Amino acid sequence: MYQQQTTEEEEKFIQQQFEELLEDYKNSPHRKKVEIITKAFKFAHKAHMGTRRRSGEPYILHPLAVARIVIKEMGLGSTSICSALLHDVVEDTDYTVEDISNLFGPKIASIVDGLTKISGGVFGDKASLQAENFRKLILTMSEDIRVILIKIADRLHNMRTLSSMPPAKQHKITGETQYIYAPLAQRLGLFSIKTELEDLSFRYENPAAYADIERQIKETTPLLQKTFDEFSAPIHSELKNIGYDYTLSMRLKSPYSIWKKMQKKHIPFSEVYDLLAVRIVFTPKPNMSEKEQCWILYSILTNLYKPHPDRIRDWVNTPKANGYEALHVTVMGNGNWIEVQIRTDRMDDIAEKGLASHWKYKTGETEDSELDKWLKTIKELLEHPEPNAIDFMDTFKLNLFASEIFVFTPKGDIKTIPQGATALDFAFYLHSDIGLKCIGAKVNHKLVPLSYVLQSGDQVELLTARSQQPQSEWLNIVTTAKARTSLKSIFKKEIKSITKRGETALEEELKKMNLSISSATMPEIMNHYKFAHSDDLFYAIGRGTIDLKEISTILSKKKGDNRWMKIWKLQFGLGQKNEKETTLQKVDKNKTIQLSDNSNDFSYRIADCCQPIPGDEVIGITEEDESITIHKSQCEVAMKFKSSFGNRVRAVEWTSHKVLSFEAIIEIKGIDEVGVLKEIAKIISEEYSINISRINIETKDGIFEGRFHVYVYSTKDLNNLCMNLLKIKSVKSVSRIDSKQ
Ligand code: MN
Repeated sequence: MYQQQTTEEEEKFIQQQFEELLEDYKNSPHRKKVEIITKAFKFAHKAHMGTRRRSGEPYILHPLAVARIVIKEMGLGSTSICSALLHDVVEDTDYTVEDISNLFGPKIASIVDGLTKISGGVFGDKASLQAENFRKLILTMSEDIRVILIKIADRLHNMRTLSSMPPAKQHKITGETQYIYAPLAQRLGLFSIKTELEDLSFRYENPAAYADIERQIKETTPLLQKTFDEFSAPIHSELKNIGYDYTLSMRLKSPYSIWKKMQKKHIPFSEVYDLLAVRIVFTPKPNMSEKEQCWILYSILTNLYKPHPDRIRDWVNTPKANGYEALHVTVMGNGNWIEVQIRTDRMDDIAEKGLASHWKYKTGETEDSELDKWLKTIKELLEHPEPNAIDFMDTFKLNLFASEIFVFTPKGDIKTIPQGATALDFAFYLHSDIGLKCIGAKVNHKLVPLSYVLQSGDQVELLTARSQQPQSEWLNIVTTAKARTSLKSIFKKEIKSITKRGETALEEELKKMNLSISSATMPEIMNHYKFAHSDDLFYAIGRGTIDLKEISTILSKKKGDNRWMKIWKLQFGLGQKNEKETTLQKVDKNKTIQLSDNSNDFSYRIADCCQPIPGDEVIGITEEDESITIHKSQCEVAMKFKSSFGNRVRAVEWTSHKVLSFEAIIEIKGIDEVGVLKEIAKIISEEYSINISRINIETKDGIFEGRFHVYVYSTKDLNNLCMNLLKIKSVKSVSRIDSKQ
C-alpha cells in the first residue's frame, strides 16, 4: 500500500462501481437498506482516501469488489455488505471498532472486529501465532458465520488480483488458499467459489500445465458442444411436452480437477472422459413435492438413455452436510457416459451460493442443519486444543476434506460421518463416553472389530462395557478428528513418557556413532521416515515402531550417496550481480533463486518426496540449517509448508542444465511380447544415452508394467524419451511418476 491522491477519472470509476453494487443489491430479494450501505461506502471511501493497493489502484476498489462478491456470489444481505465495505478500515486506518459500533451498530462492528483479528492471512510468521490466529478464525466463525464468508470473499478478490504480488508472497497465498480456503468454501457449500479458488491457485503454481490444459479444453470444446447438442435435443422435446420451465446447460470440468485426475490416474488429457456434464434446472409445479418431480425427470431421462447402475447419487433424499441437494445420474449417450445433474431452482441456488441462500429458504425449522452440527464439532475440538499448531491444523483439515457417508443406528436414524471412519470413530461421534467404553460393534447384525471401516448404508450397533479402558493402540484405529482429540487428551501423559523414552534411546544410539541429536542428523532421519516433528519420531521410536538399527544405515547412506543427493550449487539474483550481493546474509527473500549447475554461492537439495527435475514448476523451502530443499510446487509436503510456514517459502527457477542429471521415474505399461523390454532398454540407453539406475517389472496375464529409474537433464529430455517409447508398438502407456515407493 502507498499514498497518492485519486484523480478525477478514478473518482468517477469508484462511484460507478458503487452504483453497480447498489444495482446488484436492489435486484436481490433482500430488504432495501440502501441508506446504511451508502453510509458505509462513504465512510470507508473517506477512511482509505489517498491509499492505493500494490497494483496501483485506489484502495477502496478492493472493499467494493469484496462487497460485490458478498451480494452477487454469496447472496448475503446489508449487514454483510456493510461489513465487507468496512473490513479493512480498523486494520489500515486510525478508526477503531468503537467508531464502527457508534456509527453502524454493534453487529457490523463485531463482524469487522472478527475480520480484523484474522487479517494478514490466516497465519502470521511464527507457528505459535498461526495456531492462535487459526483458533480465532474458527471461533469467530462459529459465532457468526458471516465473518468467514466475508473472509472467503476477501480471499477470492485477492486471488483474482494476485499477479501484483511478488512470487514468494504468491506461493504463501496460494498455499493457504488451497490448504484452508478452498476446503472451507466447499464445506460451506460455495461450489463455484471453491472451484475458482482452486483454479486460480493452480494457475499461479503451475502456469505451464494450466496453459496446456486450457489450450486442450479450447480445442475440444467444439466437439463437446456437438455431443451436448445431440444429447440434449430429445430431452428438450420431452420436457417441453410435459410443460416444465427449465434450463439445460453444459458443464465443463475445471482445469484444476482435470489436472488432478490426470495426476492421480497417470493419464493424458485425451483419456479424461468425464469432461462434460449436463445440468437440468427446473421450476417445480406447485401441487407436487420437489423430490417426486426430480424423479419424474429422472425417469424421462432414463427412458431416453440407459443409466449406469452404480452411478446414481441421490442427494434429494439425504442432502450433503453442506446443504447440497440434487439428483445425479450417469447415462450412456452416443457411446459416452455422461453425468446429468437434476435440480430445482431452489436447489440450484443453494448449490451456487451455498449456505447463505439456504438461510433464505429456511422456514422456521427448529432442527439444527448439518452445518450447525459441524460447527458444533469444531467448537468441541477447540475445547481440547492440541498443544501443537500443525497437529491442530491437520486435525482440522482432516475434517474439512472428509466427504461423508451415511450410516444407520439400530433404530434406523441416519447419521453422517466422514468417509474412512471406523466403528470406533462412530462410537466417539455419538458420544465420547460411548467411544471410551466401546468393546466392539455389530455391523448389519454381524460382529466386527473396532477397526472396521464403515460403508455407506451400514447399520451399526455399538457394544460397550463398563470395564473397558481406552487403549493407546486406538490412536491407530481412529480417523476422525473428534475421536483422535478425545483419545489424545486421555493419553497425553502416556504419550509424553513414550516420547521421552524414544528420545533417550535415539540419543544413546547416536552416541555410539559419535553423533548427537542435532540439525546435522535430525533432518536426514525425519526426512527418511517422513515425520514433520521430532516428537513424532521420538514417539515412534519409543513405541518400537521404528527399529533403531536402521538409523546408522540412514545416516551413512546419506553421506556416501552423493550421486543424486549431492549438494547442488545455486545462484541468487537475476542475471549479472555484484559478487558481494550474492552472499547468504544479504538474501532478499522476495527474490527468485536461480537454480543452476555451475555456480557456488549456496546449496540446495532435491526433495525425496516429489523428485522435481529441471523444467518442473518448483518452490524452495528454507530448512532449519538455512539450506534450501527444492519441491514441486504441487507436492503435498510443500503444500503443507506453504500454508503453515509461508515465510520459509522461496521462489525458485531452473536455469539451463547440462552438467547435472536428475533421477526421474517412468512407468511403462504394455503388452508383454517377446523383445519389447529389449527394445525399451535400447531406446533409453542407446538412442538417448540415458542411464538407468533401477528397473522393476511385473507381468501378469500378458500385460507388463515396468518402472524405470532414469537420469535426465530436464523435463524436455524426459518428454522426448516418453514420446519415443510410445512409438514402440506393444507399449500402450508411458508416464512419469513421483515417489520412489
Ligand atoms: Mn481485504
